[in-house]
Amino acid sequence: MNTVAGYDPMRVEQSVRAFADAMLETMRMHERKGGWDNVDSRWLAWKLAEEHAEVVTAISDYVLYGTPFNRRALAAELVDVANVAMMLWDKLQTEG
Ligand SMILES: [Mg+2]
Repeated sequence: MNTVAGYDPMRVEQSVRAFADAMLETMRMHERKGGWDNVDSRWLAWKLAEEHAEVVTAISDYVLYGTPFNRRALAAELVDVANVAMMLWDKLQTEG
């Protein structure tokens, strides 16, 4: 067990793997859209901002008014952000 308060390496690993599973599920659901090798990095950066805006929209009533959010919808938007971030991250690894 790690000695840093609140940091449980097993919990981190479980959460990251569960999130990665959710990312993969969404990627497979959208595989007909193709990959991102031929997608411009600037477009991915714009798409990341757009997906982030969708997260903000999904939580805005909760933040502003305390209205309960749609957990399933918010989870899906968070996964969208992660998948686009992954694509952009991947391009940064493979492009000069
Ligand atoms: Mg979205």
